[in-house]
This record gives sequence, structure tokens and C-alpha cells, in this order.
Amino acid sequence: MNKNNVCSNYVDPEYTWKVLQDFKGGNALFTQPATPIKCGGAPQKIMYLADDYFRRTGVRDQSQIIFATPGSVIFATEPFKTTLMEVVDRKDIQLRFFHKLTRIDGANKKAYYTITQDADEPEKILYNSKDSGIKELSKTEIEIPYEMLHLAPPQSAPDFVKRSKIAFQDGPNKGWINVDIHTLQHPEYQNVFALGDAAALPTAKTGAAIRKQAPVLVHNLMRVMEHQLPVDQYQGYSSCPIVTGYGKMLLCEFDYTNERDSDPLLTKIFDTSKELYSMWILKKYGLPFMYWNMMLKGRA
Ligand SMILES: Cc1cc2nc3c(=O)[nH]c(=O)nc-3n(C[C@H](O)[C@H](O)[C@H](O)COP(=O)(O)OP(=O)(O)OC[C@H]3O[C@@H](n4cnc5c(N)ncnc54)[C@H](O)[C@@H]3O)c2cc1C
Repeated sequence: MNKNNVCSNYVDPEYTWKVLQDFKGGNALFTQPATPIKCGGAPQKIMYLADDYFRRTGVRDQSQIIFATPGSVIFATEPFKTTLMEVVDRKDIQLRFFHKLTRIDGANKKAYYTITQDADEPEKILYNSKDSGIKELSKTEIEIPYEMLHLAPPQSAPDFVKRSKIAFQDGPNKGWINVDIHTLQHPEYQNVFALGDAAALPTAKTGAAIRKQAPVLVHNLMRVMEHQLPVDQYQGYSSCPIVTGYGKMLLCEFDYTNERDSDPLLTKIFDTSKELYSMWILKKYGLPFMYWNMMLKGRA
């Protein structure tokens, strides 16, 4: 990390910027781990911005942009998925699904992936695939050479949470705090509630999600302190503001069922499933204002 053109906005965005500025062509590989991550859209956002930047600097013609992800789709919720696939087509990005990053050879600029889906069904794995020097080492392992690699590191709850009895001790949620996904109350220790990234909630880990979790948690906690049952229910709302280029963004809002859950007021005025300049302005100016002045003060 942070050398040999392996960069991550999760660790050092300044180095990502340097790598983008120095990029002169070849494979620009973008990837993400198989663990849950903060803001699942972030590894895509930087890829779309990089594409835009490479077009401005005149190196896009000499480069291949590849997105290799352990996931099976670019985005789970319609109509955002359709818009993002249009973006992928327009930008000529190669998608590789079911790709689990296992190893990076930094000195030789090669990334190694295990393919987790049956290779006999290539249409599920590859989209817009091109010859980019990718080598099949076996039916389940491939080598992708790169000139630059942007990654999101594998993520977990902090160690003190993982070691605690409030966390799941095993299973797919191991290490994340065990809470009822609707009431946010621990099933065993009823005076314990959790929200945010460390909680085992099957939705995207975002600040936007916490904004909706906080009032539910507070209300339920106050009820429990008054010896009543928790009644408020969080439905898994989360939001990914996906920047698709300079001055373009769609605002993906969804819930536990992966159904669209867009703000009714905002969608009266804007079609937030399309790339909009207005949403870019919202992200650049509106959301920081809302965060500092409203969310942190419990007013929004
Ligand atoms: C690149 C990136 C882009 C993102 N984009 C968006 C976005 O556009 N929209 C959005 O809504 N969200 C976004 N997010 C996600 C958002 O930042 C997180 O969901 C949110 O910050 C989670 O808040 P949290 O309080 O649960 O956890 P955190 O913000 O991780 O806070 C946990 C805190 O606990 C502290 N801590 C850890 N261990 C200890 C210890 N032993 N003792 C004391 N303190 C400790 C940590 O230092 C940290 O400050 C993004 C995240 C990243 C990384």
C-alpha cells in the first residue's frame, strides 16, 4: 500500500491523486475486498472520476479501466443499477464479478484473484471484457497486470469490539455487534444497543444510514430505560452518493430489501437515479452543511 502505484482513498487520498497524475496509460485496476466495507460505492466513485481525469489529460486512449469485485452486480438496486451500467458502457469500463483479491505482487505490478463463481458461466463473471494481458493461471485463479491499482482494504469492527461478548462469536457476521436489525437492541444483553459501522446490520455502512438509525436507537433506548419494550423499527435505509464524473452524481437510496427508498421531497424535484449536476452540488456543499450543522446536532 502507498507505493508501487497501489493506492487507496481509504488510506491516503493524496497518494491516489499523485498516482492518477502520474498515470500515462496501461491497466488501471480498481477493486474491493470480500468483507463488508464503509460506503460500498466509494471504490466505484474514484474509478469514474479517474476515467474523467484520464480523458482530460489525454491518456484514456492508451488505458484500460478494469473493475474487479467479489460482488455479482455493479449495484443491487434498480433504477440505479441501470444508470450505472449505462455509465460503464459510456466509459468503456471492463467489469469482472466474483473476483476475490488474494495477493498483490507490488514490485511486478500484478494482482491475483480467486474466481468464486463456476468459470463455466463466463457471462456471469465478465462484462465488456478485453485482452488486457490478463492470465488464467488455473480455472479459479487469474493474474491481472496493472499500471495503477486502487483498492479498499478488508475491513472489520475494532479489535475491542471483536473480542467482546456483544459481537457475533462465529458465522458470517463474526466480529460485528449482534443487534436486532430493526430495533437495534442486543438480543441477549437488553441494555445494549448498537448503530453505525460496527453493528451487524445487513445494509451499506454509511453516515446516511446512521442518520436514520440514531432516532430509532434513542427512542428504543429511552423506552427500555422506562421498562417498556422497544417499538421503533429501522428498515435498513442507506444512501450512496455515487459520483460518476466531474459535476455528475446520482443519489442511490435503498433499504434492507434493496428496494429504492429515495427521499420523497427530493424526488419530487429531481430524478436522483440519473446523473445530475444538482446532486453533485448537493454532495459538495449541501451534505457537508447538513452533516456539521444538522446531523451532529440531532436536527436531521
Ligand atoms: C472513502 C469513504 C467514503 C465514504 N463516503 C460516504 C458517503 O459518501 N456518504 C456516507 O453517508 N458515508 C460515507 N462513508 C461512510 C461513513 O464515513 C461511515 O459509515 C461512518 O463514518 C461510520 O461512523 P461510525 O461512527 O459508525 O464509525 P467510525 O466513523 O469508523 O468511527 C469509529 C471511531 O471509533 C474509534 N475507535 C476505534 N477503536 C477505538 C478504541 N479502542 N478506543 C476509542 N476509540 C476507538 C475510531 O478511531 C473512530 O473514530 C464513507 C467512508 C469512506 C471510508
